Amino acid sequence: MVALAVVTALVVCGTALIMTLRARRDLRAIVSSLAAPMSEPQAGEDRLAASLAVFDDGIVIVDRLGREVLRNPAAERYSEARTGDAIVADAIHRMLDAAIAGTVAEEELGLFGPPSRTVAVRAVPLELRGERIGAICWVRDISETRRTDQVRRDFVANVSHELKTPIGALTVLAETMAVADDAAVQQQLADRVVREADRLAQIVEDLLDLSLLEAQEAPSRETLPVALIVGDAIDQVRPKADAAGIPVITTTIAADVYASCDRRQLTSAVTNLLDNAMKYSDPGGIVEVSMESGAGLVTIAVRDHGVGIPARDLERVFERFYRVDRARSRATGGTGLGLSIVRHVVQAHDGDVTVTSTEGEGSVFSIRIPYVGSTATERREREDLDA
Ligand code: ADP
Repeated sequence: MVALAVVTALVVCGTALIMTLRARRDLRAIVSSLAAPMSEPQAGEDRLAASLAVFDDGIVIVDRLGREVLRNPAAERYSEARTGDAIVADAIHRMLDAAIAGTVAEEELGLFGPPSRTVAVRAVPLELRGERIGAICWVRDISETRRTDQVRRDFVANVSHELKTPIGALTVLAETMAVADDAAVQQQLADRVVREADRLAQIVEDLLDLSLLEAQEAPSRETLPVALIVGDAIDQVRPKADAAGIPVITTTIAADVYASCDRRQLTSAVTNLLDNAMKYSDPGGIVEVSMESGAGLVTIAVRDHGVGIPARDLERVFERFYRVDRARSRATGGTGLGLSIVRHVVQAHDGDVTVTSTEGEGSVFSIRIPYVGSTATERREREDLDA
């Protein structure tokens, strides 16, 4: 019976705190475990303790005098807690006292790290046939939910800000055009309208690429020579490289190294790196593409001898809309989204992308992905293993 009151309280708590799929499954496990006939009260308590042990959330139950009757393993960390956990332990005591007195108590605690965490604590009275028999407290780590909320908010703010600039420019250009009577001036303004519209289109295209990548659960895969991807990417940037006077050369590109990849996505990632290497180099600055394989991985490296990236910015260049030099990025038609697209693509291929750079000397961006093999037999063996 006590168990039944606990289940009811858990359902109330669980619905009020953000319910994860896992928590729902846990609750179902408890309910079905307790639905079995109970011949002895002790058996019921044992079953309850065993069921609560599967929860990632901490659960503490007290009787009506505040004496602890059950604490699941996840709540153990708050028994003799220090630092951040001590704050949670305090809240548990305080809120259980309030719940015994009949109040439903709820708090969200921000704990300084490292790592910093956000924890939701909720306590409710336990009642059986109208009589208060104790209270239950539920502690859930909601750091991930809060972090994603924040990322989403920042993203919306960033997108709005990024779109505002070209839209503002278009408005001003159109207003100026409306009153300009010199045909040459009108032509100049019209050219700038086209440039700003192109920028808007590029931002929207990159945003769509990003959201497609995020939505894609199982990217399509074919086993292809990595040299083909590199070749495709170089072909795509060749006209721009020629126009900018930047030689793009390849070194150590083996023809027989294969990777399992989405051709379009991986080519676009390498193209992005080449595009950046050219954008942040001066005319004449050579861009080199190389490839290495070993230990089950293939690395495609793009090296430039351009402006480089200050050490403090290295960690952040893969963030959406992060730019070291806004003016240069804008002048070269950058959206600040290229490297986050690269990172997404590479991660979807179970790989990683890294950068080393020296300001004033240049940068090397390296994509590393699993490789399938370099001979037909090796490839077949690996594919069989993966299957
Ligand atoms: P953008 O469209 O601005 O180039 P990216 O996401 O591709 O956006 O890159 C983010 C920022 O990282 C750039 O604005 C630039 O400051 C820096 N960056 C990227 N690649 C290079 C490079 N090869 N050399 C120097 N800086 C680079």
